[in-house]
Amino acid sequence: MTGKVELLLPAVARSAAVTETPLGRLTVPSRAVPERRVMVDPQELVDLRNAARSAADRAHAPYSKFTVGAALIMADDPERRVFTGANVENATYGATICAERTVIAQAAAAGFRRIAILAVSCTKALHARLADRSPCGICRQTIAEFSTDVPPSLVLIDSGDDDVLGDVLDLDRLLPYAFRIAP
Ligand SMILES: [Zn+2]
Repeated sequence: MTGKVELLLPAVARSAAVTETPLGRLTVPSRAVPERRVMVDPQELVDLRNAARSAADRAHAPYSKFTVGAALIMADDPERRVFTGANVENATYGATICAERTVIAQAAAAGFRRIAILAVSCTKALHARLADRSPCGICRQTIAEFSTDVPPSLVLIDSGDDDVLGDVLDLDRLLPYAFRIAP
C-alpha cells in the first residue's frame, strides 16, 4: 500500500521573438506555463499503465503491427473505474482509430467529460524515444477536448522500464496552443 505523492510539473517559459521583413513583421509568440503540483497515487499509475499494456494485446493492428493500449480514469467519475482501449486499424488506413481515442470515446459515451489520468502504452516501441511512443496530434486534440486545468489532466506514457512508472505530461506540455472555441 503506497500513499499519494506530490507530482511536480515544472514551469515552462519561452520569450517572444520578432523578425522584421520588408513585407511586415513575423512574430514568434511567447509561452509561459506555470509550475503545477498535483497529488497522484503511484499504485493507481502502475495499475493504469499495466491496464494499458494489457489492452494493447487486444489491438486490431494487422497492417502496422504497431499495437497500442490505453487506460483511462475520468475525474468526474466518482467510482474512478478504469476504461481501456486499443488501436483499431482499417483496411482503408484512413478509418483507423488510435487507442487514446477509442478509450476516450468509451468514457465520453458513459457520460464522463474530464480526464484524470490517461495512460498509453505503445508496446512495440517501449524503451524508444518519447516521440516514438507519444500520442499523435489528432489524439492530443481529442485529449484537449476532455482536459481540465485544475487539477490538470495527466497523460502517462509507458517507457517500458520497470523502475520508471512512465513519462508524465499535462496538456500544456503535450499540446501548446490546443485549438479551443472561446466560451
Ligand atoms: Zn492518435
